[in-house]
Amino acid sequence: MADTSLNPFMRAQQSFKEAVETLGVEPGVYEILKQPMRTFEVAVPFIRDDGTLQVFTGYRVQHNDALGPTKGGLRFHPDVNADEVKALAMWMSVKCALLGLPYGGGKGGIACDVDQLSEGEIERLSREYIRAVSLVIGPDKDIPAPDVSTNPQIMAWMVDEYSRIRGENTFGLITGKPLVIGGSEGRVEATGRGLVFATRQLAKEMGIEFDHARVAVQGFGNVGSVAASIAYSMGAKVVAVSDKDGGLYNAAGIDVNDLLEYKRTNRNLTGYPKAEPIGNRELLELPVDILFPAALENQITADNAQNIRAKIVGEGANGPTTPEADAILFDKGVMVVPDVMGNSGGVTVSYFEWVQNQSRFYWSENEVNQRLQEYMSRAMAAMHRMHERYGVTLRKAAYLVATDRLAQAMRVRGWLK
Ligand code: GLU
Repeated sequence: MADTSLNPFMRAQQSFKEAVETLGVEPGVYEILKQPMRTFEVAVPFIRDDGTLQVFTGYRVQHNDALGPTKGGLRFHPDVNADEVKALAMWMSVKCALLGLPYGGGKGGIACDVDQLSEGEIERLSREYIRAVSLVIGPDKDIPAPDVSTNPQIMAWMVDEYSRIRGENTFGLITGKPLVIGGSEGRVEATGRGLVFATRQLAKEMGIEFDHARVAVQGFGNVGSVAASIAYSMGAKVVAVSDKDGGLYNAAGIDVNDLLEYKRTNRNLTGYPKAEPIGNRELLELPVDILFPAALENQITADNAQNIRAKIVGEGANGPTTPEADAILFDKGVMVVPDVMGNSGGVTVSYFEWVQNQSRFYWSENEVNQRLQEYMSRAMAAMHRMHERYGVTLRKAAYLVATDRLAQAMRVRGWLK
């Protein structure tokens, strides 16, 4: 039998199904949530540096807008496909509802390999993507943001292109922008900061001292590198980190600031002299207190879950653990901070950025971080209440909170009768 648990779209459907059944709400809630309201597939033509024209496939998915305009990142990755983007949009609906943000879930992306593109090509591709989806996005409709392999510079080109099409500056179109054109203080660090915050809180409840914990981090992008750096600054021992080309291990701990400096000059982690090379798979199985999978989907599966030795898995990536692996971890007593909670700091500060854009009034980094903490604590408390009430995993509890809110919104809006 094919392992459907590796298909993130089917997994997202299954999670909503279980939540609707556990809550005992109208079956129509599942009928609506089991697929996105709108899925756009676009052809994105752009001119390569050598003058040839190439066409890439792009997507934008709007899962459910009962709670507000849809919101979610854009990823540039060779594996981007319709089912993946649909699942990621569904997970955004859960994240936004869980955090109490006035948004539904959206997501988008382009199937491409940024390592094969020059900066000029990435700019032209980004602008063409916005032209292709400009009719369906907007500050009150659907608000993109960064995700895997996209960054503030790409957001800047995109908001510029949209503003040109509209004939007016529309900074509220997109979040994760550079500060000088309406970005928010704290947005770049928000996902990693939130991940450390949520994981540290759970560790405390389990009697594990995060500030002295041994930590391994898979993925050294915007989420993993910030989480590693904050954990290191708190005193935790970061024994291993990795990126897509492989990892580094030092049982005595890695100086994360030094490594960040090395990455700035060398562009990747390879060859760093103060640690041993380690494979991505081995990294996941290290004897640590805390494991942060902060790369891509399907990293902890039925194949390796049994070998995980961490006490807590704090999910920075979206969908790193399959349901079968989840069950194995649960039986082993490994606690999991689910992705929809663990990486929700990003979209939460994106919401703050959008509020600042719409009100033209900007906050200090302190205000941003303090509000981030408030939103995350509230969501963690709601998740915990469901965890205790229904005796389910934290992931299932997060889905219960979110599905209940989505059901309430659809009910009062009259969608269910
Ligand atoms: N891409 C991020 C996520 O998966 C952030 C989305 C946003 O800021 O809208 O949560």
